[in-house]
This record gives sequence, structure tokens and C-alpha cells, in this order.
Amino acid sequence: MKVGIMGGTFDPIHIGHLIAAQIACEQAGLDEVWFMPTNVPPHKENAPLASAEQRLQMVKLAVDAHPYFRPLDIELRKGGISYTIDTVKLLREEQPGIHFSYIIGADMVQFLPKWYKIEELTALITFIGLMRPGYILDLEDLPVHIQQAVSLAEMPLIELSSTRIRSRKAKGLSIRYMVPDRVYEYIEENGIYGS
Ligand code: ATP
Repeated sequence: MKVGIMGGTFDPIHIGHLIAAQIACEQAGLDEVWFMPTNVPPHKENAPLASAEQRLQMVKLAVDAHPYFRPLDIELRKGGISYTIDTVKLLREEQPGIHFSYIIGADMVQFLPKWYKIEELTALITFIGLMRPGYILDLEDLPVHIQQAVSLAEMPLIELSSTRIRSRKAKGLSIRYMVPDRVYEYIEENGIYGS
């Protein structure tokens, strides 16, 4: 089985994340995509507004009805900040027999050489780089072990981010349709982002 991992803060999860996952799934021939909220240092300037439990709950509500999208709480369960290599090793222990691919923005691909223990990582997993229209990426400039671990998927541009959603909410504007209905309702009911 081939599983794509979509990691993020998901503060909140929005339709850009879901469409990206759907496209990665189709273009890379994945069987499932697992959405993994990551831990963020609490007293950073850009610390999440929603709690870890709320971020996970929003992911669950967003993917619940989908036949092959699932929530993955592995990094929240572990606590602290996780290196990808450690998460991957834990995943492989807990879920033997699955091939994992990390779904990342194409702009992140060029930074893969700087990732912690990247040689070990490219021996264990592959990466799916989501290309924005017009974005130029020269894979040939990267070390061969990275080139071999990366496949690219064409993604339409969706000008939406969690930051934009939080800022609309702070201004009292509606975020309906930018997040799945059940996430929208959860945000309203729990007064997250200053509803
Ligand atoms: P923030 O605005 O808070 O930084 P974000 O919307 O970028 O959040 P993250 O949770 O940080 O969301 O993103 C998780 C992953 O989803 C990242 O790899 C990010 O590049 C990708 N992503 C986010 N928004 C989009 C989008 N509109 N189209 C494609 N990929 C996206």
C-alpha cells in the first residue's frame, strides 16, 4: 500500500490542503493520504491559535467522510518537535508494509538537501512535490539520491492559506466554503479564531 503523508499546522485545515492531497493522490497513484498535524513551539510568535486537540479535531471532521483520507496523530501523541526521520521510523514500526511519501510544496524541494539525515530519509521514503503553475524547479541541481526520491505533481493555484482564514475571522468576515462545512461549524461553535 502507498500512503501520502500531508503534514501541517492545520490551524485550520482548509480546502487548499484537501485539494492538494487529492491531486497528489491521483498523480502519484497513492492508496491513501494521512493528514498529520504537527507540534509547534508554544511561545513562538506564530504559535497556533487553536489547541493541538482542536487542530486534530478539525482534521478529523474534514476527512471523516472521505474514503481514503485519514487523520494521523503520531506527532501530537509523541509530543515535542519531531524530526521527519524519527516520525518515519516510528511510522514504519507501527505500520509495516506501507510505502510512505511525504507531500510537500515544490518550493520546499530545493531545501531537501538541508533536511536532517536526508540520506537516511531518502532511503526510506519518497517525496511528492506540488508544483504551482509557472513555478520553475530544476531537479538536476539536486543530489542524485534526492532526485530519485522526488516526483512532481501539477497543482492549480489556490490562493488560500490558514493565515488568510484566521485574518478573515479576526476581521469578522466569513470563512464559509474555505473550510469543509463541518470544520466551519466546529470553528463557529467553539469560538476559535475569535468567532
Ligand atoms: P499558515 O498560513 O498558517 O502558514 P498553511 O495554509 O500554509 O498555513 P500549513 O498547515 O502550514 O497551512 O500547510 C500544510 C501544507 O499544505 C504545506 O505543505 C503547505 O505548503 C500546503 N498548503 C497550504 N495551503 C496550500 C494551498 N492553497 N495550495 C497548496 N498547498 C497548500
